Amino acid sequence: MDKMSPPTGLSVYQFLGLQPGPKLLVLGAVHGNETCGTKAIERTQQEILDGALRIERGSFTMVPITNPLAYQLKRRHGDRNLNRNMRVTDPPLDFEDSVANQLCPLLEAHDILLDLHSFHTPGIPFALIGPPNNCGDLEPFSKADQEESLALRLGVDRFVEGWLDTYAQGVRDRLARGAEAHVDYGVGTTETIRRFGGMGITLECGQHDDEQAPELAYRAIRATLAHLGMASMEPMPLPARQPEVIRLYRVWDRLHAEDRFTQDWRSFQKISRGEVIAERHDGTELSADQDGWIVFPNPNAQVDQEWFYLANRSDRLGSA
Ligand SMILES: [Zn+2]
Repeated sequence: MDKMSPPTGLSVYQFLGLQPGPKLLVLGAVHGNETCGTKAIERTQQEILDGALRIERGSFTMVPITNPLAYQLKRRHGDRNLNRNMRVTDPPLDFEDSVANQLCPLLEAHDILLDLHSFHTPGIPFALIGPPNNCGDLEPFSKADQEESLALRLGVDRFVEGWLDTYAQGVRDRLARGAEAHVDYGVGTTETIRRFGGMGITLECGQHDDEQAPELAYRAIRATLAHLGMASMEPMPLPARQPEVIRLYRVWDRLHAEDRFTQDWRSFQKISRGEVIAERHDGTELSADQDGWIVFPNPNAQVDQEWFYLANRSDRLGSA
């Protein structure tokens, strides 16, 4: 067979404890060039096969390569970003639709998701968590306490919240100026499992090529199994002692190809109120309205797409 023919399936590893317990799903390579999760899952799978790690309770499912086309191409995307607009589509219109059609039922069948990613530019690892408990229309949620409790044990000290909320604000801005947008485009793996009544954490384990990233991912899987009581492990993971919690509150789109940043911003670079971040092509300056951070700046953003996020300090996770 031609090695580069398009992938036709997903490998799924599953281990069932003989005692009842949580249903945990761990994903790797949702973005094809983010392979720390793949390595961590292969290592965990081997330890289970060798008998070094024993699943006692619940069901433990791992997908080492969630986007096999993007993985084969060593890229973030195959036809599109799998971690957006996640839903069942009939008929599927691209490769990622076909994957989502398998992935959505898998997410629905589990209680807890650990989604392992890495990032492009150097920085410290962090976990993305969902909203606080709420009965709103956008992302109603009742498992914030459990989600936070797990997030604190994944081996990172930095946490980011406010994704879908902020994304929805960006969508409103886009619609208001006549551009196309839909809030469901902001729905990825964790938003999907929350819609199904579960909880989910995206763990950004480090820079793509950081040799420590697969180790962090591996330890996070073990900490999750221990914390959920699915495998007996000593010592039990302790919560982060000084969590830094960052809340996204505003997204700015790029509106013109000549809109430009005033400097080469790094993600999570601190900014002060009034500091000028960017200049529109007509000379309008965009500045920070409060002290905080600039997050996910993308100097190559397409017109009408997210250009950068602003964030401030959150008091969740007992970090106030
Ligand atoms: Zn990613």
